[in-house]
Amino acid sequence: MGKLSTQVDPRWFDSDTKAEALASGLAVQWLGTAGFRVVAQDHHVWLDPHLSRHSLWEVATQRLTPKPDRIDADVDICHAVAVGHSHFDHAIDTPYIAQKHGAKVYGSESTLNLCRGEGVDEGLLTRLVPGELHSEGPFALRAVRSQHSTFAFGRVPAPGDITAPLATPARAERFRVGEVFGLHLGCGHGSVYHVGSADLIEAELEGVQADVVLCCTVGRYATENFTHRVIDALKPKLVIPCHWDQFWRPLDATPKQIPTNDLAAFLAEVRSHPSAPQVRVLPPRGWAGVGG
Ligand SMILES: [Zn+2]
Repeated sequence: MGKLSTQVDPRWFDSDTKAEALASGLAVQWLGTAGFRVVAQDHHVWLDPHLSRHSLWEVATQRLTPKPDRIDADVDICHAVAVGHSHFDHAIDTPYIAQKHGAKVYGSESTLNLCRGEGVDEGLLTRLVPGELHSEGPFALRAVRSQHSTFAFGRVPAPGDITAPLATPARAERFRVGEVFGLHLGCGHGSVYHVGSADLIEAELEGVQADVVLCCTVGRYATENFTHRVIDALKPKLVIPCHWDQFWRPLDATPKQIPTNDLAAFLAEVRSHPSAPQVRVLPPRGWAGVGG
């Protein structure tokens, strides 16, 4: 399979049952795009949940609004949502989830403005400031300043901030990127670090370590030596790729890669790092027990 292939080899998939994952004390579930659920002690924190998965036709021609049926099919329990940047494929579902579950939202001012536009109670909203620690159930959550990959002809798509409350329906380009964060979640059973866009700022990661990196793969060729730099910086034992799937197709459809993503090459990149971390590809809705 070449760089442009969108095929996914089912032999890449390696997941645990939900029960196995939860029994490890720290469980992650991948739900397409950069969306994960992280669970410890029955506390469910969602990172960049994106279940609406509008079609390319909808994205190109329509104003977007969240799809409650698709969100409710997967988001059954949610105590908090943390969002790494406010592009629609990372943030559009967060206000609906927050309202439905009374869940807290952690995000940039842009993400909070999206929540405000949709009428989320201000008391649920916490602005992320790099370096500040938040207790969220059994987790300590902190944001690390990061940056978005410049994969779109050398640019970040939809640059700038959402500077005022934004209500849906809204065109995709209204979901401006805002501040970009890596999200670190630690608990007594281990730690995970979420890289929602394939870039990083090493200086911001000094002193930060994570057992597991939830790693965006698409667009990484715009960031020199991205995969090894992430592993150098965070020294993980395990890497779980994300944002490789065609997020404009339903989660129930057979997964296909975004052209140029080249997941096979990513697996080789991880395995060729001198520290040789483990790498596991989760299928859509797949679980991994990562607690130790
Ligand atoms: Zn983005």
